[in-house]
Amino acid sequence: MSVAVRLPRRKKAEAAPDPADLLAWYDRHRRVLPWRARRGEQPDPYRVWLSEIMLQQTNVKTVAPYYAKFLARWPTVEALGGASLDGVLRAWAGLGYYARARSLHVCAKAVAENHRGKFPANLEALRALPGIGEYTAAAVAAIAFDAPAVPVDGNVERVVARLFAVEQALPAAKPAIKRLAASLLPPERSGDFAQALMDLGATICSPKRPACALCPWNESCAAFARGDQETFPRKAPKREGRKRFGAAFVALRADGCVLLRSRPEKGLLGAMTEVPGSDWAHDFDLAGALDAAPRFKTKLKWRKRPGVVRHVFTHFPLELTVFVAPAARATRAPQGARWVMLADLPGEALPSVMRKVLGHALED
Ligand code: SF4
Repeated sequence: MSVAVRLPRRKKAEAAPDPADLLAWYDRHRRVLPWRARRGEQPDPYRVWLSEIMLQQTNVKTVAPYYAKFLARWPTVEALGGASLDGVLRAWAGLGYYARARSLHVCAKAVAENHRGKFPANLEALRALPGIGEYTAAAVAAIAFDAPAVPVDGNVERVVARLFAVEQALPAAKPAIKRLAASLLPPERSGDFAQALMDLGATICSPKRPACALCPWNESCAAFARGDQETFPRKAPKREGRKRFGAAFVALRADGCVLLRSRPEKGLLGAMTEVPGSDWAHDFDLAGALDAAPRFKTKLKWRKRPGVVRHVFTHFPLELTVFVAPAARATRAPQGARWVMLADLPGEALPSVMRKVLGHALED
């Protein structure tokens, strides 16, 4: 959103931020979101929790169809807890960060089995549920139960860091920012206040070119008064993980099937689907890559595809060399692998990196 009117800069903020100003702004400008209760409606803790888990590291636009799909398929936490992990992972495919889908499922089971399908209403009990971290517990407590809690995500961190011109860099500044955010909590309407902060961060106090002229707190924002609001929050320089390398093997059977397997339950992309491949290592030796190829009764002729597939995980970049081999119609899958029709791939829990590998292998 661009700045409609330029306000004069002041050296100092004129007053402490008043939560009532933010709530009044929220009453006029609140976003309409599929998971948000309408005015006067009681929020459903299951919907609040489901949307908060989905929204972690993902934006509203991407989440909306997944949220609708999950709700249609599993309208209650008991229904989700009773689903198979594989079914949940398949429905989640494409949303990324698959550990969240696994913990979503574990948490749904725990609520269904240990809490008779009702999310507990206080922060501590929510925090004790599997897969619910400090942020999600605060979001569910505040939004679903109006409990006195302030969920602090990246958007809220940015708003608070600017309001108080917090000089300490992230991530070290997180505890101080949380304390400052908590100091803003009004005596009533915790849920609306949490959502108002989220909305302000998402629509007005954007990372670049915040629309300060439209901000209900512009008279009390320390960074805006100084004119350097875009430089907050301060950030420590990023250290990117070391690049890893590996090989991926795409065997294509004459009847239009591709060889797939499931990754181990635990660890990166746990229980997701992949094509067979080598380990991913800093010192991967391409000359010996075929040692990691799947073994069939009759040896396949692997051809290396030109180029590589690049993918960046949160903690390291990856470069995969892709090998392709045709297989006769009668070829049996090696132990632990299975043949899947190419037409059935959309139903597989394939992470983005594997979609890229298959795309690269099947390119003309
Ligand atoms: S005045 Fe500007 S920088 Fe300060 S909180 Fe509002 S939008 Fe953010």
